[in-house]
Amino acid sequence: MSIEKLISSQAECPMVKTMGFDPVSEAKRIEKEIISWRRDFHMHPELKYEEERTSGIVEEHLHEWEYRIKRVGTGIIADIGEGEKTIALRADMDALPVQEENDVPYKSRVPGKMHACGHDAHTAMLLGAAKIISEHIDEFSGRVRLIFQPAEEGGNGAVKMIEGGALEGVDAVFGLHVWHDLPSGVIGIREGPIMAGAGIFKARIIGKGGHGASPHQTVDPIPIAAEAILALQTIASRNVPPIETGVVSVTAVHAGTAFNVIPEEVKMKGTIRFFNHEIGELIQTRMGEILEGVTKAHGASYELSIEELVPPTVNDKGMAAFARNVAEKYGLRHSDVEPTMGAEDFAFYLQKVPGAFLMLGIYNEEKGITYPHHHPRFDVDEEVLHLGTAMEVALAMEFLR
Ligand SMILES: [Zn+2]
Ligand SMILES: [Zn+2]
Repeated sequence: MSIEKLISSQAECPMVKTMGFDPVSEAKRIEKEIISWRRDFHMHPELKYEEERTSGIVEEHLHEWEYRIKRVGTGIIADIGEGEKTIALRADMDALPVQEENDVPYKSRVPGKMHACGHDAHTAMLLGAAKIISEHIDEFSGRVRLIFQPAEEGGNGAVKMIEGGALEGVDAVFGLHVWHDLPSGVIGIREGPIMAGAGIFKARIIGKGGHGASPHQTVDPIPIAAEAILALQTIASRNVPPIETGVVSVTAVHAGTAFNVIPEEVKMKGTIRFFNHEIGELIQTRMGEILEGVTKAHGASYELSIEELVPPTVNDKGMAAFARNVAEKYGLRHSDVEPTMGAEDFAFYLQKVPGAFLMLGIYNEEKGITYPHHHPRFDVDEEVLHLGTAMEVALAMEFLR
């Protein structure tokens, strides 16, 4: 090929000319490896804070690819490259206490445990990105940090990783979740709130017990609790502004033991969900006011404890726009994605450092991959995993230009 011809063919593909390599074709090149890692993790699921085998395999690879590794329990913080800017990419590694019902060759080999949320795919995709980045580190002008975290499922592993220094010196952080609500291969990107904040509450309505035939001698906590439960429904319908979203669900109510005894108290518990902090505060304040008012009206008393488990996951506007531009530039299919009332501990990273939580569609009707996250028949469309890897590499490359 003549020099003239070479120049013109490069000009047709500016990406290759400026970057030296294309993340999408690099990821496609190691697709089989990514899938085999995913299958291996899938066959050997580990629950929160027990990710010994998984993190051991991850560490072995990262070591081989010359990452600088710091252990945080079963979590790993791994750095490569030097420079003024640092981008962090995060994957979670834990599985769920679910009995797998899929009939596939890579079915979970551990009874009662399953990667039913797709964290096996997250770990495999980020491993793929780690490999590609290490092969091209001379072409990055900055530092890439990989966070392989434990215990996303109700363990707030993100908090442990942050305490372990995962965000020190980090300028931007990105996470990627395989997503049932998007068609296979589409990257979901959204500005602002994407996952809800979640809290758990416990309440006691304390009355005065007695004989079921003599209610006038008691303070019956059961009708008081019934009144309080109905009044709690008005928080979402009457107190949360109609354009905002909030959930108050009473999910357990316990009282009494005998048909002729009015019990001393009623115990309740449940969950609250919200997309912005003020709504979370409003819900908590109104719960207290309602329980106080209703119990006082009937001469009873109450106790209420509310624990905020996870804040809302809120994507930085600039970082979401950056991700959209990156997807666009590399020809990766992308779309907006609806927020959900589910919660994610990635929220903790986004409270400290600007970034975005992105989704990768894995829903594929033709392949029967239609079951939602946490379902015993949940599965991912493996053919699109390399696109997640490509997106991660491209984010790092573009951020560190
Ligand atoms: Zn999950
Ligand atoms: Zn998950």
